[in-house]
Amino acid sequence: MTSTTTERTAVITGAASERGIGMTVADRYARDGWAIAILDLDGDRAAQVAAEIGERHGVPAFGTAANVADEASVTAAHAAVQAEVDAGRLPAVGALANIAGITSPVPFLETDLALWNKVMAVNATGTYLVTKAFLPAMLDAGWGRIVNMSSVSAQRGGGVFGKVPYSAAKAAILGFTKALAREIADSGVTVNSVTPGAVDTNIRVGSTPESEAKLAADIPIGRVASTEEIAAVFAFLSSDDAAYLQGTNIDINGASHLH
Ligand code: NAD
Repeated sequence: MTSTTTERTAVITGAASERGIGMTVADRYARDGWAIAILDLDGDRAAQVAAEIGERHGVPAFGTAANVADEASVTAAHAAVQAEVDAGRLPAVGALANIAGITSPVPFLETDLALWNKVMAVNATGTYLVTKAFLPAMLDAGWGRIVNMSSVSAQRGGGVFGKVPYSAAKAAILGFTKALAREIADSGVTVNSVTPGAVDTNIRVGSTPESEAKLAADIPIGRVASTEEIAAVFAFLSSDDAAYLQGTNIDINGASHLH
């Protein structure tokens, strides 16, 4: 699809990381004909990644700095995206993928309140703040798709990378998704979540060949997911076809939930 047929913008948080899920989700949205707006900590990097993806797929693209855990930063990023929409450089925002996240690979008794607060702030409060910023225009339009990133850590405990704060924050996202979906169920805006098991990205820093082999052996399919496999679920949940999925969570974990 070219920019002339692009009707909506997808906002993706946490999409500037090389090999990250967010970047692949942004690429998939653009491939499907969405304009894209990337929000990430490093604004230059967000703009660069957005420009590359936009160029590759011939869609309008914008990237700006946002710390999703900080209300003023989210407000500024939302205003920057809205300015692009108002200037006609981006179509109206139709989808929001809340993907920015950080882990807490620390045993419980080695955590402190600062780590707990930071992990909750980026994963859970970030989802709240960015949704609060972009939801009103979707409600006004009577159409929207919000897709939130959880993790199998919310369901089974954290493994090596998640541990307690991360698992708690990702569980909060599941409750957030269901409650908001219920509240706005008939608005035309859907709110759903995606819960991956292990995915092949740089977030699993500190992994070793041994820990990776052990991880793969613990997954019935026998391997971790690719970022493209996760992106396909975001794309579906953001499509017109997914209008009847409301407050749903999609597990994508290679049958780990059957263990
Ligand atoms: P990643 O570290 O490659 O990407 C995370 C992105 O979030 C980065 O671009 C980073 O800059 C951004 N980010 C971090 N803090 C931010 C903040 N305060 N404000 C704005 N942006 C911020 O990680 P990934 O593996 O691509 O993970 C993406 C999401 O998927 C995360 O929410 C993660 O918890 C979730 N997840 C990952 C896996 C996995 O195995 N990789 C599994 C389940 C869920």
